[in-house]
Amino acid sequence: MKRLLKNCDILAGSPAEGKVIRNGYLGIDGPTITYIGAEMPTDGYDEAKDMKGCLLIPGLVNCHCHAPMVLLRGVGSDLPLQEWLFGKIMPVEANLNEEDIVAGSQLAILEMLACGITSFTDMYYYPDQTAQVVIDSGIKANLCLPLTCQDPEMKGEDCQRITDAMAFYKAFNGKADARLLVDFGIHSEYLTTPRTVEYFSALCRQEGGRIHLHLSETLREHKECKERYGKTPTEWFRDLGTLDSPVLAAHCVHCEDTDLDILAEKKTSFIHNPSSNMKLGSGFAPVVKALQKGVNVVLGTDGAASNNNLNMLEEMHLAAVIHNGYHRDATVVPPGAVIRMATTAGAKAQGRSDTGELMVGNKADIAAVSFDAPHMYPAPDILPMLTYAVQAGDVQTTIVDGNILYDNSSYLTLDAEQVRYHVGRSVRRLLG
Ligand SMILES: [Zn+2]
Repeated sequence: MKRLLKNCDILAGSPAEGKVIRNGYLGIDGPTITYIGAEMPTDGYDEAKDMKGCLLIPGLVNCHCHAPMVLLRGVGSDLPLQEWLFGKIMPVEANLNEEDIVAGSQLAILEMLACGITSFTDMYYYPDQTAQVVIDSGIKANLCLPLTCQDPEMKGEDCQRITDAMAFYKAFNGKADARLLVDFGIHSEYLTTPRTVEYFSALCRQEGGRIHLHLSETLREHKECKERYGKTPTEWFRDLGTLDSPVLAAHCVHCEDTDLDILAEKKTSFIHNPSSNMKLGSGFAPVVKALQKGVNVVLGTDGAASNNNLNMLEEMHLAAVIHNGYHRDATVVPPGAVIRMATTAGAKAQGRSDTGELMVGNKADIAAVSFDAPHMYPAPDILPMLTYAVQAGDVQTTIVDGNILYDNSSYLTLDAEQVRYHVGRSVRRLLG
């Protein structure tokens, strides 16, 4: 299938540079971008789609999510993180079954496609169920079965969760033309043990894998780790060999200056989750310092129970404004840096070198943003529009590997009514 997107503006090349081709054409052959330019291409196409009024941008990459937690949206809101997690969320999670995970994953993917997300990195129970939804829906995802272990004597070889995580890795990594990648998940320092983390990190290095974990999300967690081990969570993971693989570290709110030096040296990606950090009272992540030290900063929504939505454009807006306010300096996180976090840097963190920028040869992972609404006009400069003005409802079309998955409020691979029915059934069973 060869498809031509025509009459649209295109944020071409490195999106952070803000180079826009006006009234252009973007040609797609199968999953790949084959043409970008202001002139009509000469080769023939099976279909030409008029995208008048739209700007094509690289699909957004949500680097930290717990997709099925949309089922718990609103549960325990307004509680501190530890009370929320252990008192409200975990008791419900204990009753989740595979059908719930399918319904929740489908609902999360509907929500993500509608705001231009083409790929997400996730950590949750029954990831094999989410994997099938990812394969069927056409979106991209990096999934994992996260390691948790509370027994300090447990050897890595004897840890059933590690055996299960490796089985999931072998069964699903690279499926669906590598739309689905499997990461090594380590929940956090506070829900694991040195023995199991060291063993699992060594397995990851052997396999050449990537690791997704939570890092210094709350001050309490950060302090308790120092009391337990005499080192910060970042130092703890470094000393266990975890950071010798490519790592995506969620939150990093309480990372110290020396921790940021370690993240820069180890090329660890720092996942910024501004909505979740503010809602749960975790604090303001040291994004400005991380950027200054050359850390790969990316963005994530976190799960819908701690956000309470999966709207990456809202995360971009918050990332663009909160640090200016905190530092009393309007220049510290410029729009280009935020666009980069949400696209190029996110794709890099996921280990996807063929996406994140609209260029010939890359995969056609595209979000089309409409500039028709009153709040999108006038638009003298594109990048500030994408960080300060745009709303999720402005996303008109979402394309992954050349396939249109969402277009003008319609879903082409998922039945939104049926998803709503299944989610309703799960929520009634779980929450009464
Ligand atoms: Zn999380």
